[in-house]
Amino acid sequence: VKKIGVLTSGGDAPGMNAAIRAVVRTGLSYDLEVFGIYDGYFGLHQNKIKKMERYSVSDIINRGGTFLGSARFPEFKDEKIREEAVANLKKHDIDALVVIGGDGSYMGAKKLTEMGFPCIGIPGTIDNDIAGTDYTIGFDTALNTAIDAIDRIRDTSSSHNRISVVEIMGRYCGDLALQAAIAGGAEYLIIPEVGFSRTDLLKSLNEGKLKGKKHAIIAITEHITNVNELAAGIEMATGRETRATVLGHIQRGGSPTARDRVLASWMGGYAVELLLDGKGGRCIGIQNNQLVHHDIIECIENMRRPFSQDLYTLQQKLF
Ligand code: ADP
Repeated sequence: VKKIGVLTSGGDAPGMNAAIRAVVRTGLSYDLEVFGIYDGYFGLHQNKIKKMERYSVSDIINRGGTFLGSARFPEFKDEKIREEAVANLKKHDIDALVVIGGDGSYMGAKKLTEMGFPCIGIPGTIDNDIAGTDYTIGFDTALNTAIDAIDRIRDTSSSHNRISVVEIMGRYCGDLALQAAIAGGAEYLIIPEVGFSRTDLLKSLNEGKLKGKKHAIIAITEHITNVNELAAGIEMATGRETRATVLGHIQRGGSPTARDRVLASWMGGYAVELLLDGKGGRCIGIQNNQLVHHDIIECIENMRRPFSQDLYTLQQKLF
């Protein structure tokens, strides 16, 4: 391996820049040439490829988003399009690629690897929904953003004896809502791994009121139900003022936390070492505080994220 490429793909996440920086600088430290590919697989197909110097990644470790840009490019599922993309890589003599993104991006990396082009996947998404890793890059920053929002909502809910429904990202993974509920002291939690019943929720709200609780915060993962309708239903049933707040894209931005920066740097450096070791078709994770790598195909097709049952059980005792 002499020349490697790096791209970010799918939904962006704080810490992606730190990961790109680590790939570039680690690569240069081993005398590799490193190329940045702009706008994900779309840019790969459009040949938006630029050689990176050490200063190309200066002053980005603290910045959210991804300076390389990211794109959704469903056309990449088409083998012919992928062949054209590989031809662009070959034009630059690039012989391996680091892909930072979510599981959709891993699919693209898997397909390229199957076509004989070695890729390493780095988990970059705030959703923490990728198998083979305890944490994804961006999760910690998004979690802190969600907690900050919950703290603010708590202040005003408490002043007004209000019930607040807070919709948190995570796609189909409840980790962000679960950990935000614990750290933000939310009373009720609705996550996709467990689901919910309106009757039980109303019963709990009523029990909370009997315990003397004047306000309540309900943390809920996106895509489960329409939170405005949920809030209206609760207000109707309880007679208590209820409002929904959708945190939305605020969770996707912002300066990455120290944890995300360290994780991203660690994973970025490791990706380069794996490629130098002749390994391709792997995805990187952190498990029990150790860097690990798994077969990217195995990871997508067979591995599942374990649900944090212990944390969920704990959360149920804390309100
Ligand atoms: P994420 O990586 O955050 O999960 P997406 O699911 O949108 O985001 O995937 C990002 C990109 O990865 C897609 O726009 C597409 O270019 C590529 N991709 C996704 N699925 C496949 C697939 N089955 N085959 C090839 N490329 C894919």
